[in-house]
Amino acid sequence: MADQATSSLPIVGFIGLGIMGRPMALNLLRAGYPLVVYDVVPAALEPLTAAGAVAEASPAALARAVDVVVLCLPDSPDVEAAMTGSEGVLAGAARGQIIVDMSTISPVTARALAAQAAEVGAILLDAPVSGGQTGAVAGTLSIMVGGDAAALDTVRPILEVMGKTIVHLGDSGAGQVAKACNQIVIAVTIEAVAEAMVLAAKAGVDPAKVREVLLGGYAYSRVLEGHGERFLTRNFTPGFRTRLQTKDLNIGLEAGRAYGAPLPATALVQQLYGALMARGDSELDHAALVTVLEELAAVTVGEPAS
Ligand code: NAD
Repeated sequence: MADQATSSLPIVGFIGLGIMGRPMALNLLRAGYPLVVYDVVPAALEPLTAAGAVAEASPAALARAVDVVVLCLPDSPDVEAAMTGSEGVLAGAARGQIIVDMSTISPVTARALAAQAAEVGAILLDAPVSGGQTGAVAGTLSIMVGGDAAALDTVRPILEVMGKTIVHLGDSGAGQVAKACNQIVIAVTIEAVAEAMVLAAKAGVDPAKVREVLLGGYAYSRVLEGHGERFLTRNFTPGFRTRLQTKDLNIGLEAGRAYGAPLPATALVQQLYGALMARGDSELDHAALVTVLEELAAVTVGEPAS
């Protein structure tokens, strides 16, 4: 157990301290939770150990040292690597230990990993998040949970430090299905707003004024507001990287194939994000999708046609 623990709160282990994981873990420390951390990149540990967390040498060692394990990793293979094998979380997990995976991964992988966790008597919840870096810093994320409802009740106080809206969707994988739905709505809306603003620019109508009037009507959306502004100001600093958006659309399409739901608009938008990736812009914010449509129409939204 972590030697920082004079607290009566459970000891939390946090794996994956990137754009999202770092502020989420810092919020747990600030809320008084004794914290043990692990990341494959040693430099990622420093802000946490400087704030009082204890670093462990492997996911298995971390699992042995804590009551509850939380993961926030990029993709399905990363979560599989951290969970399985002789150094993985499941090698160190105790019977009844709760593991909360807050990464966005495939629902199919989430279900398979929950079954592997059950084989060693541990309980895996999938709990992907929405709200971005801003929500992670503010502790206001929306958290979509799949898996055992009683286990969620046990760890809910921990999740409440990181998020404001916490919804139990159903069995293992249900949280990841909800997250795939979230990503479909966001990406297809980015494409729709980009198309609309490209049309305005091509027709010689100021896209900034079109955005302004649409914001006051039925077409209002957070994407029209935030991403629309990014289109106009040419701000493609991430935020949410194009490579992660593409990963999430691939997860959605894979889930669509696995469960038999055709997703035609998602498939089209995934191809347009593929064009952005092929151009070498995988690290730009996902709002950069507008530049692909601008190229097709030979116009720039940031400079209305005269
Ligand atoms: P990130 O790349 O910034 O951070 C991931 C961290 O995991 C890195 O520090 C990396 O070193 C570490 N890591 C990778 N493989 C590892 C392993 N096997 N063991 C231990 N550590 C490992 O990514 P992020 O933006 O923090 O995203 C994390 C997850 O949250 C992703 O699934 C992403 O889709 C999701 N998400 C991100 C956002 C966002 O706005 N960035 C919003 C919602 C959800």
